[in-house]
Amino acid sequence: MKKKIVIALGGNALGTNLEEQMVAVKSTAIAIVDLIEAGNEVVISHGNGPQVGMINIAMSELHKNNPKYSLCPMSVCVAMSQAYIGYDLQNALREELLSRNITKSVSTIITQVEVNPKDKAFENPTKPIGSFMTKEEADISMKSGKVVIEDAGRGYREVIASPKPVGIIEIETIKSLVEMGQVVIACGGGGIPVIKEGNHLKGVNAVIDKDFASCTLAKELHADCLIILTAVEKVAINFGKPNEKWLHNITTAEIKQYAKEGHFAPGSMLPKVEAAIDFASSKDGRYSLITLLEKAKDGIAGITGTIIT
Ligand code: ADP
Ligand code: MG
Repeated sequence: MKKKIVIALGGNALGTNLEEQMVAVKSTAIAIVDLIEAGNEVVISHGNGPQVGMINIAMSELHKNNPKYSLCPMSVCVAMSQAYIGYDLQNALREELLSRNITKSVSTIITQVEVNPKDKAFENPTKPIGSFMTKEEADISMKSGKVVIEDAGRGYREVIASPKPVGIIEIETIKSLVEMGQVVIACGGGGIPVIKEGNHLKGVNAVIDKDFASCTLAKELHADCLIILTAVEKVAINFGKPNEKWLHNITTAEIKQYAKEGHFAPGSMLPKVEAAIDFASSKDGRYSLITLLEKAKDGIAGITGTIIT
């Protein structure tokens, strides 16, 4: 059956530097075009950890070496990462589509995602960004209002808030393109976090988890399926332990119980599981799939992956 699918790409689909990304997007494009060729409507979102890290460090170093260039806010770094990743990804998709004689245009939407300024996450920033700092550098950063933590004896790092997405500003644009049968890349890196101030959208110093933003995107688009592609074929309980057990078909109630028991690591598998539960329970018939990029086709066919219904 043909489906409307939102695919959230993890770090392994994009690589960690310029060279790796150029190579990675090629195999990513093959996996995605397989789903398009089978007749599915596909919308793509992606993470941006290494890329936004690189941009953030580059802009900070520029400021350090030449104060004439002011520090680049995180919201702007996320915008840059969406454009940079979208550029490589949309071209790889275009090439793969053309090589199979499929005429569909591909575009990247610079996407802003609204967050709530009262989100509890702002009171307790947890997401480390940028490079490690010395004690002296950390003190200077803290004086400028940043939150800095000591990271497991490895030095000091800035941490920022990771609030939950509330809504997607460019959703009507995305919907229109999808309705016209085009391929859209949106909500990259979880989207540029913004708060509404009347008619003004103000970028905030935060990062939104791409798994949660992808869930919001899938719900807003009335998708049938949310696929979260990552570095493992299935989700496990007792992950990495001798009694590890891989999950194939599971209900939201069952996996919710495992989450409560602490089987999924916060910051990596937990947000995926939470996003998958949220989407699958949002409407009858919707389901989520967590699997490896190379297994996306088999996952959709119900052969592998963790399928949450
Ligand atoms: P992505 O870039 O796709 O978001 P993450 O590194 O954030 O990837 O999350 C995926 C990783 O989560 C897997 O590679 C795996 O090492 C880890 N992980 C943590 N807990 C589990 C679990 N219970 N089952 C499977 N993988 C897990
Ligand atoms: Mg992740």
